[in-house]
Amino acid sequence: MKLKKAIDHKIFEIVSEAAAELNQQVFVVGGYVRDFLLKDEKKKDIDFVTVGSGIELAKRVHSKMEGASKLSVFKRYGTAMFVWEDTELEFVGARRESYSEDSRKPFVEDGSLEDDQKRRDFTINALAIAVNKENFGELLDPFGGISDLKNKIIRTPLSPDITYSDDPLRMMRAIRFAAQLNFTIEENSFQSIIKNAERIEIVSKERVMDEFQKIMMTDKPSVGLKLLDDAGLMKFILPELVALKGIEEMEGQTHKDNFYHTLEVVDNISPNTDNIWLRWAALLHDIGKAPTKRYDKNIGWTFHSHEFVGSKMVYKIFKRLKLPMGQAMKYVQKIVMLSSRPIALIDENVTDAALRRLLFDAGEDIEDLFTLCKADITTKNERKQFRFKKNFNLVEQKLKEVEQRDRIRDFQPPVSGDEIMETFGIGPGKEIGIIKSAIKEAILEGEIKNERESALNYMFELGKKLYLTPKLKRSDL
Ligand code: ATP
Ligand code: MG
Repeated sequence: MKLKKAIDHKIFEIVSEAAAELNQQVFVVGGYVRDFLLKDEKKKDIDFVTVGSGIELAKRVHSKMEGASKLSVFKRYGTAMFVWEDTELEFVGARRESYSEDSRKPFVEDGSLEDDQKRRDFTINALAIAVNKENFGELLDPFGGISDLKNKIIRTPLSPDITYSDDPLRMMRAIRFAAQLNFTIEENSFQSIIKNAERIEIVSKERVMDEFQKIMMTDKPSVGLKLLDDAGLMKFILPELVALKGIEEMEGQTHKDNFYHTLEVVDNISPNTDNIWLRWAALLHDIGKAPTKRYDKNIGWTFHSHEFVGSKMVYKIFKRLKLPMGQAMKYVQKIVMLSSRPIALIDENVTDAALRRLLFDAGEDIEDLFTLCKADITTKNERKQFRFKKNFNLVEQKLKEVEQRDRIRDFQPPVSGDEIMETFGIGPGKEIGIIKSAIKEAILEGEIKNERESALNYMFELGKKLYLTPKLKRSDL
């Protein structure tokens, strides 16, 4: 098969020319070939493999490309890369790899193209197209990658037991590609993943999570998440999620299976957000339900303060998985913490004070919180489903009205600590905090308006109650 149109671009001509000068064979491999065949898409990162030195070839190509970025050379891996226009070009010498038991790091020696194709993870990633003049555009497919592409199958070039045991990250990649491309993992492969699952522990968290995040960003993350669980990998990554599995019955009372519920919520939210952390909040919104589950004779199953426990768990999970501990983690914690609040407001008689409190607590994340709450409706009863959604829209409407009037969303204290100290002639101390928070409370409760004038009057009243003698008059402020 000739695939000239996959490589009909100046880049490949230059590579071909450079290879001819060095008298080296060169091929384009991996994702570029796969995605061209699959989606007619020309990826912006191109991997070249050459029989001989990848670094020497990269240098030669680099010298022929004006305006290219600086060449980065990784001697240890025998690779080199640079960016030209918006395309990333990476070069590697064809190699043969052998692995030892306890590490992902292989012993490497020079090899043929076929040796190099063998060391790749899947047949669909082992396809190569020749770039030299004599065979420009020729497809090299020793492992049936084309047929696997057609039949949508993830298969390893070598025996799966060897492939996955050599580099257990490939188990994550198999599931990630299956989820992203909507492919099936070939049965022997899947059995082998099950067998090797615990070897995922030798892979760094960062690499595992790179693949996990790609699964989270697919259109329907439950596909990959379910595969991770079926393969027995999930319990090494997120045992807390696996703990949500199952339905218990007591005195004829059951609760929902919170694992499958969670997967549904993640799927529901995905069409509405590409914010990976909001998807994570969906994934973890019920995470506190396993440790808080109790059965009470009078009320049935309860999960008291699971949001609070859950948001504590978010910290531990992020830390363990080496996810970003700053804003992203705090955001997920906050959404998990607040995840049951909007539903508690679905009541005709909800007070403005309760609405203001939610606005205050959620701040700028209020819309995201509602996006989650709507995704959280997984009842199969259409009438209920309709009623819940209608109620949420109503709460949102009320929130909008309250926000327009009281502007709580990005609440700024109307009186500063400095002003309080100056007014009463006191230094920093607990009184300042007491007064500030009392003003905030009065605003949220609706006792005073969210404006400076009312807040100042209120501050003087508070001063009296605390036996503070003002040093300034109301009219001085
Ligand atoms: P994408 O970039 O869309 O995720 P890709 O196929 O380009 O897909 P990369 O991670 O960029 O994936 O890897 C490039 C190529 O390197 C792959 O196509 C595959 O041939 C090979 N490869 C990557 N990781 C491994 C691995 N762990 N084991 C074996 N081969 C791998
Ligand atoms: Mg790539």
